[in-house]
Amino acid sequence: MTLSTVDGIGPVTGWSDEILVAGRWRRGGGDLIETRDPATGAVVHAFHGAALEDVEEAVAGGHAAARESGWRDLLPHERARVLYRIGDLIEERADEIARVQTADTGKTLGETRALAASAAGTFRYMAAALETMEESVTPQRGGSLTMTVHEPYGVVAAITPWNSPIASDAQKVAPALAAGNAVVLKPPVWAPLVSLLLGRICEEAGLPPGLLSVLPGSGRIIGNALVAHPGVGKISFTGGTTTGRSIGRVAADKVMPVTLELGGKSPTIVFPDADLDQAVAGVAYGIFSSSGQSCIAGSRVFVHAEVYDEFVRRLVERAESLRVGPGTDPATDIAPMVHHDHRDQVAEMVRQAVEEGAQVLTGARVPEDEVLSEGAYYLPTILGGVRNEDTICREEIFGPVAVVLSFEDESELIAQANDNDFGLACGIWTADYRRAWRIARAVEAGTVWINTYKQFSISTPFSGHKESGLGTEKGRDGIAQYMRQKSLYWDLTGEPIPWGRH
Ligand code: NAD
Repeated sequence: MTLSTVDGIGPVTGWSDEILVAGRWRRGGGDLIETRDPATGAVVHAFHGAALEDVEEAVAGGHAAARESGWRDLLPHERARVLYRIGDLIEERADEIARVQTADTGKTLGETRALAASAAGTFRYMAAALETMEESVTPQRGGSLTMTVHEPYGVVAAITPWNSPIASDAQKVAPALAAGNAVVLKPPVWAPLVSLLLGRICEEAGLPPGLLSVLPGSGRIIGNALVAHPGVGKISFTGGTTTGRSIGRVAADKVMPVTLELGGKSPTIVFPDADLDQAVAGVAYGIFSSSGQSCIAGSRVFVHAEVYDEFVRRLVERAESLRVGPGTDPATDIAPMVHHDHRDQVAEMVRQAVEEGAQVLTGARVPEDEVLSEGAYYLPTILGGVRNEDTICREEIFGPVAVVLSFEDESELIAQANDNDFGLACGIWTADYRRAWRIARAVEAGTVWINTYKQFSISTPFSGHKESGLGTEKGRDGIAQYMRQKSLYWDLTGEPIPWGRH
């Protein structure tokens, strides 16, 4: 039985114990992976992940498939046709994808439906970008016609985190396939199911067998083996900065390109002239949606002293009005965190901050409701009485925890916003467009939202500054990130080259 038979949430029977290795569905040779529904702790599915031998086979199979299927040499619109079909099938099966992902990650169905729609859009956008991608004939500076063309790397390894599986898978797999590569996708052990489903969908859409392998397994073993593998020509990684740094070191030894999309500790800034209703809603959404498990979460909230008391009071009220519950309940705002272990880590970081002097304005505990007692829940939390240099303001928490800080002077604010190792995103709430422009240009961040937050578009490039990343995803140039350039000089004159005169 295949994954497509799944139609509900909770313990699932009948799923096949198979992973996708070089065009074949078969039992993985690695350890048993048990994915759990974080709303209840119940096992959703248990199967064997990939072993090192599976990595060998997937990489060799990727090269063979790229060669034998002619994928790399198909005309762009021919490759695009398959990508459009993948997008359509994702859309057709969006409800199933959403349910699987909610069971695996705990997220609300509203969010997982949006992630499935985003993944479908990504495949379609990359198909369209591929069809319209142009090579350039460069200005001639001699007798040769000069041009530069893009070619695939061969086999790309895509390593993804657990927080938005289908969307982050699509963000890597779509452009890498569009570019003519084979892809080995390594999803995280906490949320691997939707990536396996994507493998089924790609197969059904007519992607030549072997071009996509899906190898769930531990990062330390399977992820590391992929990064170090001599047959892998590029790594596209999304995850934590510590992991990204270690991948970067291995890549440096191989002189291999990497794209790293890493963590964040993003400032979100409220000025007194902001529409406070919008700002309260936007700041709450920016930090508490996805239960804060979002790289771009607006976790450091800077509020101008003039409106600090009123804004914080209203933000606390908003946080306390959010409904905590399972992702399957349409009324839920705050779903469980991905895993009980992760919830406990978040709780421990908050406990330490409080021990070091932070003041709890709301939350900082698990809900008391008996119905929620089995789940990995944590209440939306706001901490005050902190300084920007405190650990809780410097480190990524990856949970529903905001720190609030007051400021008065614009240059002092910019210095504080930038005084952090990360540089992923920033939010600015003000009615003054000149101020918005000044701050947006001065803040060190890859994405800045003005009077909005967490809006995304596949057509707009995404990257992290400083320790939040290296390289860019999305946008029309997204496909070129999975290609290397080759320049051609083509003599048109027939004149003897200098040594030809002897
Ligand atoms: P993680 O770094 O622990 O794991 C990410 C992936 O890397 C997983 O598949 C994991 O198995 C694998 N991995 C772990 N060690 C590895 C190694 N040594 N070699 C190769 N692969 C390895 O991150 P996580 O806990 O899954 O995700 C949360 C992090 O991801 C947060 O820091 C968050 O900010 C970040 N994130 C960033 C973005 C972005 O676009 N910038 C988006 C989503 C999440």
